[in-house]
Amino acid sequence: MQLTLLGTGNVQGAPVYGCDCTACQRAMDEPKWQRNLCSAVLSVAGQQLLIDANHPALMQRFAAGTINAILLTHFHMDHVHALFSLRWGLAPTIPVYRPDDPQGCDDLYKHPGLLAFQPPNQLGAPFRVANLPELTITPVALNHSRPCQGYVFEYESNQQRDCLAYLTDTQGLPDATWQKLIQCAPRAVVIDCSYSPLVNNSNHNNLSQVIEFARRLPDSLWVLTHISHELDSFLLREAQLQLPPNIKVGLDDMVV
Ligand SMILES: [Zn+2]
Ligand SMILES: [Zn+2]
Ligand SMILES: [Zn+2]
Repeated sequence: MQLTLLGTGNVQGAPVYGCDCTACQRAMDEPKWQRNLCSAVLSVAGQQLLIDANHPALMQRFAAGTINAILLTHFHMDHVHALFSLRWGLAPTIPVYRPDDPQGCDDLYKHPGLLAFQPPNQLGAPFRVANLPELTITPVALNHSRPCQGYVFEYESNQQRDCLAYLTDTQGLPDATWQKLIQCAPRAVVIDCSYSPLVNNSNHNNLSQVIEFARRLPDSLWVLTHISHELDSFLLREAQLQLPPNIKVGLDDMVV
């Protein structure tokens, strides 16, 4: 099971339009520090599950018929906007799994095109997708300004047992989500870490919180995503800061 981070930026991405901070300048000079909006793709047993749909070249990167399902964390525009053009494609329908959010985003429910919206996910209730009998997907609760959920992926075959978690957007982690993480001990957790310890935000984690999470589950690798230029600037300024060994700053195209 492989999780590729398609984007690791917060809603602003990097470089931020018009910003001349050190992080944005570095992103302009060195493309590896550019951050697309936050999304990922899980590759497992020859299938590809897209987590959120916002990549600027989504339809070039994934030819028709190669997205087996889409898993949405939530309906904020920066996580779903690529669906608006994808839906009118002439391609096989794509099942879309989603949180229980009756509003969705704009007219997506009314005019879904090739998107086959599934009944809302139930938090904590595992489900499977077509052609992947060995993969169990559990939607888990997150704390955000609208219904939002993370996903825990458990893969079990004769040859392999693996578990990964993808948890953005969130401020803190609800108890039920901790229980699931402790029970399945993921190899890696991709986690919302939008800000430096200097910023407290009611919808997103900062680095102090994530360091605390990584202490609580020390055998998992914690990969930061949804990163703002504010956090990147902080990490550049505090270059001597030693992150715990089980924390890794995410980059676009990183494979977990
Ligand atoms: Zn900046
Ligand atoms: Zn959001
Ligand atoms: Zn977001």
